[in-house]
Amino acid sequence: MDNITASEIAGLGVGTLLLCATIAAPKVDAFISASQRSSLGMCKRCGDLRMIACSQCKGVGSVRQGAALGFSMFDDFFQLPGEGRAATSSTPCNKCEAKGRIQCPVCSERRIP
Ligand SMILES: [Zn+2]
Ligand SMILES: [Zn+2]
Repeated sequence: MDNITASEIAGLGVGTLLLCATIAAPKVDAFISASQRSSLGMCKRCGDLRMIACSQCKGVGSVRQGAALGFSMFDDFFQLPGEGRAATSSTPCNKCEAKGRIQCPVCSERRIP
C-alpha cells in the first residue's frame, strides 16, 4: 500500500466528509429552515396569518343547534338552498364570535412585537 499518498488519504477524508454532508444536507437544510422560520416569527400552525379556521364551526361562523358529529353528511339531504338557515336552527358560533376564524393560539401565545 505504498501507492497511497498523503493527498490521497486527505482526499479520502474529504470524500467521506462530503458524503456525510450530502447525506445530512437535507436534514440540516430542514433544520435550518425550521429554525429560520421560527426566528423570523413565522408560525407553523397558521403560516403567519395569525388566524386559523374555527374548529367549532369549521369557518362558517355559525353552528347548528343540536348538531352532532357527522351532521354535515345530512346537510345535502335536508338543507335546501336558500332555506337552509330557516329549516335548521343555527346560532352564531360563540367560539369565533361568528367570524369563522379564531386567533392562532400559537401566535397569541408568542405575542410577536
Ligand atoms: Zn366558529
Ligand atoms: Zn400562528
